Amino acid sequence: MMRERMNQAVFSLKRSAIREFARLAKETPGCVSLTLGEPDFDTPSVIREQAKESLDKGETHYIENNGSFALRERIAHFEMEKHGFSCTAEQIIVTAGATEALYVSLLGVLNPDDEVIIPTPAFVLYEEIVKLCRAKAVLLDTTSSGFQIDEGALEGLVTERTKAIVLNSPNNPTGTVLNESSLDAVRRCALDHDLFVICDDVYRELVYTDSYHSFTEFTDVRDRTILVQSYSKPYAMTGWRMGYLIAPLDIKERLELVHQFIVVSTPSPFQKAALAALDFDPQELKSTYAKRRTYMLERLRKMGLEVPEPQGAFYMFPSIRKFGIDSARFCRRMINEAGLAATPGVCFGSDDHIRLTYCYSDIALKEGLDRLESFIGKLENRMAGG
Ligand code: PMP
Repeated sequence: MMRERMNQAVFSLKRSAIREFARLAKETPGCVSLTLGEPDFDTPSVIREQAKESLDKGETHYIENNGSFALRERIAHFEMEKHGFSCTAEQIIVTAGATEALYVSLLGVLNPDDEVIIPTPAFVLYEEIVKLCRAKAVLLDTTSSGFQIDEGALEGLVTERTKAIVLNSPNNPTGTVLNESSLDAVRRCALDHDLFVICDDVYRELVYTDSYHSFTEFTDVRDRTILVQSYSKPYAMTGWRMGYLIAPLDIKERLELVHQFIVVSTPSPFQKAALAALDFDPQELKSTYAKRRTYMLERLRKMGLEVPEPQGAFYMFPSIRKFGIDSARFCRRMINEAGLAATPGVCFGSDDHIRLTYCYSDIALKEGLDRLESFIGKLENRMAGG
């Protein structure tokens, strides 16, 4: 009864099926899981040591709301040095992962009934946050344009209520890196219609191409660009809940209040560890992922699956359209009949794909792909009436 009196927006939220399928895999004896987007190694010890030291030194008190000044200075330096993105410590808010950074950004820019354009396939979080803000997610399906953004299609979705576009490159779940024509289309659209562009670049350190460009490289849209970053993926720090956002000063001055009233600050014992993380070079890890990526891609193509070559992150998004089964059914059957778990594409807005992640050990990958091969072999046999 009291439940009915709750904020109606919470009833429109969807529980993430990514975790549901990961759980299903766990409950199925012997099942191999290629579901979660989580590095399979531990946080590097240089980073862990810093946190221990901070705790031992009693660095356990309230700190500046936006994160320690030393950390924000280091982030500004890192962004300039590594990515040519010039900003100052004053523009940075250290957040509880990219998740909070996205929440703060969207809550900070959206009025009720505003519209946010989200290119899909996309990470589930954006749409759910937009709903919590009482705004509307407008999905731009990029499947037919090779997961790139078609300018005409983008323009076609803009209304007088459009407030922002969310970009994610490299993309979860496809691994696609947005090309210059996509980025330019967004730039023009943002300039013409005064839109915010929220750049979720959390996989930026995991790119396997030389032709990567971030939207943040455009200097003429800096007054409307918010960069969202995370420590989770490049440094295997998913459980630390650390990330940051960088916004134009006048926008950040309001966003910092949203952040303050949600979490006050990120944990004080993690400030130096996060600083140390930026000195850690994830190159070794990246080459491990690069090898696994080549292996998985070759295997999937040999199986005759249509799969776009991912240029970043650690996901692949093969099409299952030819089997004529929706993605949730496909994944459920694959768990039951072949002992392999993947994530249904429907979780990302595309029902004729599945998402496989390759941040798993070589042994798990080989076993998983063997099982996939025999499962689709059986499906093909059945389709052929065998
Ligand atoms: N954005 C994307 C595209 C992601 O894939 C994830 C995590 N899976 C996040 C944001 C959230 O990252 P964090 O752990 O920093 O909250």
